[in-house]
Amino acid sequence: MSTATDIALDQAAALLQPARCAMAFTGAGISVESGIPHFRGEGGLWTKFDPYKVAHIDTFRKDPAQYWTYSLNHRRPDAQPNPAHRALVDLEQRGHLRAVVTQNTDGLHQKAGSGEVIELHGSSHAVVCLDCGAQFPRADIDRLNREHCPPSCPSCGGQFLKPTVVLFGEALPESALRQAQTLAMAADVVLIVGSSLQVYPAAGIPRLAQQHGAELCIINAEPTPFDDVATVVIHGKAGEVLPAIIRRIAQDR
Ligand code: NAD
Ligand code: ZN
Repeated sequence: MSTATDIALDQAAALLQPARCAMAFTGAGISVESGIPHFRGEGGLWTKFDPYKVAHIDTFRKDPAQYWTYSLNHRRPDAQPNPAHRALVDLEQRGHLRAVVTQNTDGLHQKAGSGEVIELHGSSHAVVCLDCGAQFPRADIDRLNREHCPPSCPSCGGQFLKPTVVLFGEALPESALRQAQTLAMAADVVLIVGSSLQVYPAAGIPRLAQQHGAELCIINAEPTPFDDVATVVIHGKAGEVLPAIIRRIAQDR
């Protein structure tokens, strides 16, 4: 990495080391190196698919088969955490990170071992029946989907099985949003990783933190609308940048 990046890495380590209640705010970009594509920006899914067709609640209710066909072809149930997810666990264990607030639904922070993870957009690992409310493990419904697309509810036979993810047109889970807001207002540092920071209300969380005095450190492949107000900005791959920050923090011990 270049000298400019070296300086920014030192600055990021210096920001995180004395932090007492830092939080991470993560987006799809942190899981790209695990083989899960992101949405916006170079190579993102929304450059190939119309989000209204595959991820909007109105379209889902009209034609769940469209969603489940997309899922059949694009879901990566075997994805594993990458060095960026693990670096956040390391930061937490060293006492520099209080919680991870994520827009991701892939469960990779939990799989990596992060202690407190707040999922703003739900989880893709469970499925709910919109008719009877029964919930099922995603793996069971994926199996049914492979046999017959779209799958129907094993309890009531209903046709509207939906992963517990927040689709466009749906509200965020209230308790997750409240917890994230509380953490944001108390945070001294927000470490933002792999988010275009264009999706609201989620992107309002780092904004709220900043308004309450937190310093922002952004690690993202491309520029974001928050770069101007951040204390440190590093444009690079999360799986390379985060471990480099940890190495600096570990050396200073
Ligand atoms: P986004 O797609 O809008 O932005 C991702 C950002 O990550 C982009 O700016 C991109 O430049 C950057 N990026 C790509 N590869 C990177 C890498 N290796 N290291 C660092 N940065 C990288 O994603 P977002 O901001 O999370 O947008 C929110 C929406 O995307 C949410 O609705 C979320 O639920 C959804 N989403 C989640 C997943 C997942 O669970 N993994 C996957 C796709 C989309
Ligand atoms: Zn049902």
